[in-house]
Amino acid sequence: MCRWKVSSCMGNVYDCRGIYSIIDNRISKFTEKEETNMSLVTSREMLLDAQRGGYAVGAFNVENMEMVKAVLAAAEELRAPVMLQTTPSTIKYGTLETYVGIVRAEAAKVSVPVALHLDHGSSFDLAVRAVKEGYTSIMIDGSCLSFEDNIDVTRRVVAVAEPNNIPVEAELGKVGGKEDDLEAEADTNTDPAQAAEFVERTGVASLAVAIGTAHGFYVGTPVLDKERLSEIRKVVDIPLVLHGASGLSEEDVSDCVKRGICKVNFATELRAAYTDAVKALLKEKPETFDPKAFGKVGIPAVKELVMGRMKVCGCDGKA
Ligand SMILES: [Zn+2]
Repeated sequence: MCRWKVSSCMGNVYDCRGIYSIIDNRISKFTEKEETNMSLVTSREMLLDAQRGGYAVGAFNVENMEMVKAVLAAAEELRAPVMLQTTPSTIKYGTLETYVGIVRAEAAKVSVPVALHLDHGSSFDLAVRAVKEGYTSIMIDGSCLSFEDNIDVTRRVVAVAEPNNIPVEAELGKVGGKEDDLEAEADTNTDPAQAAEFVERTGVASLAVAIGTAHGFYVGTPVLDKERLSEIRKVVDIPLVLHGASGLSEEDVSDCVKRGICKVNFATELRAAYTDAVKALLKEKPETFDPKAFGKVGIPAVKELVMGRMKVCGCDGKA
């Protein structure tokens, strides 16, 4: 007997039996993992701890092994719980297995909690594959859909992820700018009443809200609707997530954390820090030909940036 409504299973590449076999695989993988590799945890307790403790977990987008090493070194040094995340375009650059492999191998060397999160999951199919391959936290981004369609796809992902104890983040309203291939208009901030209804009907574990931040770097100074954030927090009790934090002032980030943000995403500025370090190396030593030399300058540059952002989030010393 299918435990989900038939309509939830129809119209997808997976029928109910497909979903069951994925879950069965996943459960056996978890059992296996607990015996052999405890390196990854889910984001659930991490974010609830942050909510109770009044700080936010930093979630950092990683593109390659060097960036994974940099973020984990920062987390270890500051004793911070940490989320590493990849967008669909990063996954297309490698594969889900690529990033699960790198992150598990590197996380096994550190003693702080590490979660691997799918950032801006763009389809039910990708979200399910990420659960199956070992991601320990999933975002399904239906924010470009209508309210009802966003609820529908989010519910379907929750129905697959939650039985595997994988928490799901969704997004309501549109964060401006360009994240991956998803582009949004700037002034479509999250409506508090809709947020409450959305959380109630989907069963998500965390919610990304739009309050005036944008992906990428800011051209001018962003105007954040912090009152709106406080209004959302009054009616939504799950951890809230802030996207588009690259380039925000430290005051803005910490004020948002005080108002209920429990996870802050940083992507663009990590890529810039890495690339700037490589550019400086090539300018100084144009004869460089060994790619390992890029990592040797890129890793400390990203690590330093990440440590600064962790301190702003207040997650240092919380692991
Ligand atoms: Zn985002």
